[in-house]
Amino acid sequence: MSNKKMSLTSKVLIGMALGILVGLAINMLHLNPKGSFVDVYIVNGLFHIIGKMFVVALKMLVVPLVLFSLITGVLGIGDIRELGKVGAKAFVLYLLTTAIAIALAITIAASLGIGEGVHMTSAATFTGKEAPPLSSVLINIIPSNVVNAMAEGNMLQIIFFAILLGISILMVGKKAEPLVELVEIANEIMMKMVTIIMAVAPYAVFALLAKAFANLGLGLLANLAGYVLVLIGALMIHLFVTLMVVLKVFSGKSPAMFLKKAREMQIFAFSTSSSNATIPVTLRVVTKKLGVDNSVASFTVPFGATINMDGTAIMQGVATVFIANAYGVDLGISGYLTVILMSVLASIGTAGVPGVGLIMLSMVFTQVGLPVEGIGLILGVDRLLDMIRTAVNVSGDAVVSVVVAKSEKKLDESIYDDPEAGAVVEDELEISEEVEKEFSQKIEKLSHEE
Ligand code: ASP
Repeated sequence: MSNKKMSLTSKVLIGMALGILVGLAINMLHLNPKGSFVDVYIVNGLFHIIGKMFVVALKMLVVPLVLFSLITGVLGIGDIRELGKVGAKAFVLYLLTTAIAIALAITIAASLGIGEGVHMTSAATFTGKEAPPLSSVLINIIPSNVVNAMAEGNMLQIIFFAILLGISILMVGKKAEPLVELVEIANEIMMKMVTIIMAVAPYAVFALLAKAFANLGLGLLANLAGYVLVLIGALMIHLFVTLMVVLKVFSGKSPAMFLKKAREMQIFAFSTSSSNATIPVTLRVVTKKLGVDNSVASFTVPFGATINMDGTAIMQGVATVFIANAYGVDLGISGYLTVILMSVLASIGTAGVPGVGLIMLSMVFTQVGLPVEGIGLILGVDRLLDMIRTAVNVSGDAVVSVVVAKSEKKLDESIYDDPEAGAVVEDELEISEEVEKEFSQKIEKLSHEE
């Protein structure tokens, strides 16, 4: 045995492959009929519990991590005017990539004529949601109660508060120095918590994927093969071509290196179907593996998880064409332009959580007058597609983070170019005996002094 430690990504990859294999085997061999032992105790018992505990643990970290890292980011940016530039660049790039994504999806789906000749009867029904007016999306960026914003995990509101707090700390100046140190330490501690939770990721990823694939309706996938294949194709083109061209052209950095390092984050997004729950992992990968400075990443990552959903936009494009064709509705160029605009707007105010893409789609449908119940047609296959598009969503966030960091001279290229950077987590998880002793003595002394 070599004593070189296996990287976390390799372990997570093994967890993923085994999870998919075990899940598919259970599904194809029909080992989990409803109510059976395997169904109740293994798939929806053991696998469910392990997977869910992990996702909940990740979610637990999101709010304090975003808060502390963003305040640290604002304090560490050097020149506060830079903040506006980082924000503006990220915003424009996020909207632009989302618009390209959906335009690409509509073009591919329409030229292949998917959905033509499909029977539009669907057993499942879907009740959608109206799009909130732009005015309330804007007003909602500001929290009326910051504790509430944190309790709800409202990312845009937390971002707003953290930036304002950071700026105020800078204005208070010297007097606020102890707080600066405290926030910096709190941020480091939060990152450590991410590392601890990541150490169990290979098992959790196995459990999440084994459950998802065991419960997957493979028959349904076959029925909608056209839709599924076109959608996956468009997602792959966006990930491997569009995003990589954006990365190369705007940052000059190697796409191959990016893809190698992004894998871990993509697997998390794939396993959890949630860009929001993946924030701790995205932040870790973007800073520790891709070398983006915290002052950029602490903003672009949570911001992107909320407003940037390229994969979801692609699903909306393909689904719109598919359902319009299935219902024999001709949307015309102006209809499709409305779809593009609506999808981009819908993505701004909607958090990246599982299945939210379908709700956004229903907002788009009400705008362009397509039957919302048509979404019932694709409901059955959405679980798997949600996993894939979430991986594309977080990849978009990471690409934009690198591009913005590079243009702001906040990219540590020696980290980006080092294939081993941030790969092994065991080394980061040691507690030194000296520290233990020192801290316990300190506590003892303090309690005696009381
Ligand atoms: N699950 C996706 C995300 O979290 C959103 C969606 O498309 O449903 O990014």
